[in-house]
Amino acid sequence: MEHGNYINGRWQPSLSGRWFEDRNPADTRDCIGRFPLSSAEDVEAAVAAAKAAFARWRLLPAPRRGELLRRVGELLVERKEELARAMTREMGKPLVEARGDVQEAIDTAFYAASEGRRLFGYTTPSELPNKVNLSFRMPVGVCGIITAWNFPIAVPSWKIFPALVCGNTVVWKPSEDAPHCANLLAQILAEAGIPAGVFNVVHGDAEAGEALVRHPEVRLIAFTGSTAVGRRIAAICGEQNKKCSLEMGGKNPLIVLPDAPMELALEGVLWGAFGTTGQRCTATSRLILHRDIAASFLQQLIERASALRVGNGLEETTHVGPIINARQLERIETYVQIGLQEGARLVLGGHRLIDGDYAHGYFFAPTIFTDVTPTMRIFREEIFGPVLSVTTVDSLEEAIAVANDSEYGLSSSIYTRDITAAFRAIRDLEAGITYINAPTIGAEAHMPFGGVKATGNGHREGGWTVFDIFTEWKTVYIDYSGRLQRAQIDTERLEDGA
Ligand code: NAD
Repeated sequence: MEHGNYINGRWQPSLSGRWFEDRNPADTRDCIGRFPLSSAEDVEAAVAAAKAAFARWRLLPAPRRGELLRRVGELLVERKEELARAMTREMGKPLVEARGDVQEAIDTAFYAASEGRRLFGYTTPSELPNKVNLSFRMPVGVCGIITAWNFPIAVPSWKIFPALVCGNTVVWKPSEDAPHCANLLAQILAEAGIPAGVFNVVHGDAEAGEALVRHPEVRLIAFTGSTAVGRRIAAICGEQNKKCSLEMGGKNPLIVLPDAPMELALEGVLWGAFGTTGQRCTATSRLILHRDIAASFLQQLIERASALRVGNGLEETTHVGPIINARQLERIETYVQIGLQEGARLVLGGHRLIDGDYAHGYFFAPTIFTDVTPTMRIFREEIFGPVLSVTTVDSLEEAIAVANDSEYGLSSSIYTRDITAAFRAIRDLEAGITYINAPTIGAEAHMPFGGVKATGNGHREGGWTVFDIFTEWKTVYIDYSGRLQRAQIDTERLEDGA
């Protein structure tokens, strides 16, 4: 079946006539459909539609824009199960996680909807008499949104819904690994009554993405994906003075101290490392164990990780779904080889699963390496798969130093009952997010989300902070004195009285 781009309220093929196929990673015989492999011409059409629509959309009062987003949220609620099933079929995560992905978008829609009645600005006293100072949040204009595949509805919703409630229009280039979810979301926005041109979807790969980034009428790029691609996008945006927010890779540490609640820590590591098959930007990919508990903890961890059921996410009993595509499967295999060559000890997994039900999908066994040192590539580089690296340390100070010995800084976690250790970790871990006695995954829609160092460029999605991305401040001075008053920047002393 052929699916289109969504431009100016109409579904249409790529002007180039090119297509790409979307297949189920758990069973590649299952073709979900063909989607447009768009070029710069398609991006041009979408940006023109978004630019024209901006003139009207920005003038619709924010509470009314919020009402439309509330309707989006209600439709997501109605279609949650259908969307979750489509998501699992398209990108593999187990159904329970796919439902969570949709739920995150529901929460984000309702949050954005209510923000239509806030979008607070500031008022402050003026330094002059008979003068009023105000500030307003203004929309930025046409926003280009580019996303990864691993949260096909949640992550786009983090950007699209706030962008829209702020009065921007949107051109979204979703991942080529999750185009079907993108079109289902577009259908919902259309059904909710978002006017034609306000929200557009252009499918394709780096070619369409880069055309969007380079388009001079696109005023802002909000990107989620790898650090390599994000850096490239940032360079182009820098040349063009374009606003740019980046959510990129991670190599997230989880520390277990000797006084930790061990059962909780074990459960946390299993979920953090192997949930979504390790394909989360916040996945627990580095486990830092205190030497006093390392041996016993590892023994139990290996036992439990070997009991995880790998399979098709549509089966409710599956814990770990497939890898997204063949390229990523090969990449994971390569990293296993690198780990072995570097001298790490493979204690679990390390291989593809190919027999029986696995024969037609991209499956990889949950994998654990021990004896990993900070100089090893498997410690430093994002693998984006079910591969956990374990490093042993002798103190809290060493644990924090090892955790911080990374290019990335997205999420982090520590398991301890010692409040002093917990607060030291909060203070000293170089990460945008720190969990205490919970794994590195599990963002909530109303809290800031993002990372430091190579993970981000200073912005935060989620919560109230996302509105700083999708608005520009307008400062307003109203002088009702009826005479020329000079501000302090132009005069030495305050002029007196009314
Ligand atoms: P990716 O960087 O390969 O692709 C992301 C998106 O960018 C896709 O839509 C892709 O088509 C597009 N793209 C690729 N090259 C481009 C270019 N030159 N110009 C413009 N667009 C381009 O990432 P992926 O493999 O889809 O996703 C995995 C990565 O995403 C991991 O690194 C993961 O950590 C990261 N991620 C980060 C977060 C976060 O919030 N920090 C969330 C999810 C995923």
